[in-house]
Amino acid sequence: MKEVILIKNGELALKGLNRNTFEDALVKNIKRRLSKIMDFEITKSQSTIMIDPTSENPNMEDAEMVVSKIFGIAGYSRAAVAEKDMQKILHVAGEYLKDTLEEANTFKVEAKRSDKKFPLKSPEICRETGGYLLKKYPHLRVDVHNPDVIVTVEVRDQYAFVRGNQKKGAGGMPVGTAGKASIMISGGIDSPVAAYMMAKRGLVLDAVHFASPPYTSDRAEQKVHELLEKVSEYSGHMNLYVVPFTEIQEHIKDDCPEELFTIIMRRMMMRIAERITVREEGRAIITGESLGQVASQTLPAIACTDAVATIPVFRPLIGMDKDEIVKISRQIDTFDISIQPYEDCCTVFTPKHPRLKPDIAAVVEAEAALKMDELIERAVEGTRLVPIDAFQK
Ligand code: ATP
Ligand code: MG
Repeated sequence: MKEVILIKNGELALKGLNRNTFEDALVKNIKRRLSKIMDFEITKSQSTIMIDPTSENPNMEDAEMVVSKIFGIAGYSRAAVAEKDMQKILHVAGEYLKDTLEEANTFKVEAKRSDKKFPLKSPEICRETGGYLLKKYPHLRVDVHNPDVIVTVEVRDQYAFVRGNQKKGAGGMPVGTAGKASIMISGGIDSPVAAYMMAKRGLVLDAVHFASPPYTSDRAEQKVHELLEKVSEYSGHMNLYVVPFTEIQEHIKDDCPEELFTIIMRRMMMRIAERITVREEGRAIITGESLGQVASQTLPAIACTDAVATIPVFRPLIGMDKDEIVKISRQIDTFDISIQPYEDCCTVFTPKHPRLKPDIAAVVEAEAALKMDELIERAVEGTRLVPIDAFQK
């Protein structure tokens, strides 16, 4: 039976960003991601985007999985294509929705008729289809208020479409409609979630990771690749910049007071992340910080780190509890990777008693012991680019 995927886009009520920009970006993203799976034609009409496979045996399960992770889609459904003849429509509905209707207890039928020349009006289409399905599946009852399954028959220009319940899409805005930003990615639970949340607002992502070999291993970096690959199922292609951080950490350890170590390290990370971001024409930095979660995430500590940034720093997790963050990380499938125990550059040099309320003046004074510009220059020069894309594998 011939199947298509019907897509409803999200946030269209949005003011400012015009509807065409939104839809064009969405269609482009769908084309790019789905073309790895099958050949298809894509058409837009009446706020629905239709994906019509032209491959011989399209893998609709994989296609559906890809579509479910594209931002800007409010809802989607697979639908069977029927010729515009009521008997044929009934037959297709009975066969196509067999499994769904056998499992359901209640249903209702909705009809949409954009072809006004079709001989039956919407209420008649509903009545005919409902009657037919009740006869074919006698265990079913009609429930117009809260049915298990809504069977939708849509009569359009060329064909009719029959589908069951619409599924919820990934929501948000199409990636690429909000510009570009860099996620500061560690191997932890939080930063991949932060990346996902900001890609959902339409940002194209780059990623910056600080590695401190030999204190951190190749395996720790590999973990970051795996995390970002999961994120890229939603965000699309990403450039990861791996920054050598050992030299800087050793200098801080040798030359700065131990209790300021964490905050100075975080300021160095922020400066370098900003350098790379601006060079790559990004406009903001994203971190996985959540207020009060650890010593470096108190308000004074965040203020201290923020003070070295000259572009916006987005912290989408700032008001979230750990269990709320964990819930999203499970949903995007990064949790199990994040909890693998590999050392992070932060944990390696963690002081015993980090300053909870660092004073900016004291921090600036302590930093004077470092050859700041030279250190930053060398770290940026030594940066390695790793392209990340779940769909290129
Ligand atoms: P996460 O779970 O994301 O590791 P965390 O709770 O462990 O966060 P911190 O270690 O204080 O918190 O890090 C706060 C944020 O700083 C991280 O969310 C991330 O954005 C950034 N960060 C920490 N370590 C690194 C690193 N090695 N490379 C790049 N960014 C980092
Ligand atoms: Mg961490």
